Amino acid sequence: MPLPRVPRQDILIWRYDSSGTYSVKSGYNLLACEFAVHDQDLDSSELQRFKSFYANLWSLSVPSKIKVMFWRLSKNYLPTNVNLSNRRLSVNPSCHLCVDAPETIYHIIECAFTKRICSNMGINYLTTSSEKNWVLWLATLFDPLNVHQRLFLVVSIRAIWSYRNNKLHNNTLQSEAELIRFIRVYIAELTSHGVSHAPSVAKTAVKWTPPPGNTIKFNFDASFDSLLQSSVSGVVAQNSDGLLMAAGTTPHRYVANPEMAEAFACEDALILAVDLGFNRIIIEGDALTVVNKVMAGTEERSLSRGIFQNISAMKASFVDLKFAHVNRSGNSPAHLLAKEGKNFSAPMVWIEKVVPTVEVAIQNDRWWVQRSD
Ligand SMILES: [Zn+2]
Repeated sequence: MPLPRVPRQDILIWRYDSSGTYSVKSGYNLLACEFAVHDQDLDSSELQRFKSFYANLWSLSVPSKIKVMFWRLSKNYLPTNVNLSNRRLSVNPSCHLCVDAPETIYHIIECAFTKRICSNMGINYLTTSSEKNWVLWLATLFDPLNVHQRLFLVVSIRAIWSYRNNKLHNNTLQSEAELIRFIRVYIAELTSHGVSHAPSVAKTAVKWTPPPGNTIKFNFDASFDSLLQSSVSGVVAQNSDGLLMAAGTTPHRYVANPEMAEAFACEDALILAVDLGFNRIIIEGDALTVVNKVMAGTEERSLSRGIFQNISAMKASFVDLKFAHVNRSGNSPAHLLAKEGKNFSAPMVWIEKVVPTVEVAIQNDRWWVQRSD
């Protein structure tokens, strides 16, 4: 590599892509040829464990950026403080999280802070392996876990690494408890949205945004059971500080399709707003066709006709009413509540509090709101 004539600051370059920047595609490609490559002097059983470690990692149902981070960890490609100081970049080699030991690649896993967070997630692991090969050392810890535990571990390590980076670069004030909540909600969302959505959700991670001044935002969502032809609406109302005003769930029977379930949820949001006497509101949901239809207000010719007519009729009850569409990732409290609502056979209303999982999701949104200030 030619040296510049004038000293310049070092930058990190991803050498497996011509642009020099990391892309998931180049990561995949590199990983794809990984197995073809010689690898140190491993015997056949070690090679087998090596391969199964990567196969297990790659089969996890998490967004690829998370797997890639763990894969970079396994390759010792992370800019740990020890790695940086070995490259003569003047950094303090100690760990930022426990300030107790040099931050080697092993320490990323062995750190007391990491272990404490993972233990909170129900993942306890031993780091007493005598393996000299780093990947096999990691495999000794990873392989005995079941698929769920591996998912928890990989997500936790990635979140801890981001937390560590934020602490290092932005001086973030996020607490350990907030980090734990963040991981819990992330995993809850990941497992409730299903695998196929995970990567696209991650890419367009839209966060809930607070309404202006004296307006209350009502987020709605529905869970639909096609077998029982039933649905549950979840509605969460928050003010401009992101504080929970009220929440409600409503079960419905004879629901023909998901669109009808969402239309019911939208109607339930308006009913709750009327009941509580809020007259400046935003009604927000992730069902694009329903939101488009209520905004257009044109005559509806589907099975949900009656619901759309009710919604139109209720518009007159408000001084200021807006409808908005948000991606699923910006609608998680309502989404989770629509699922939780299955536990109740009658409609429920909560004022200034709600079931714990939904409160956690609301806290999480507020954390994002505060961070983006
Ligand atoms: Zn540490």
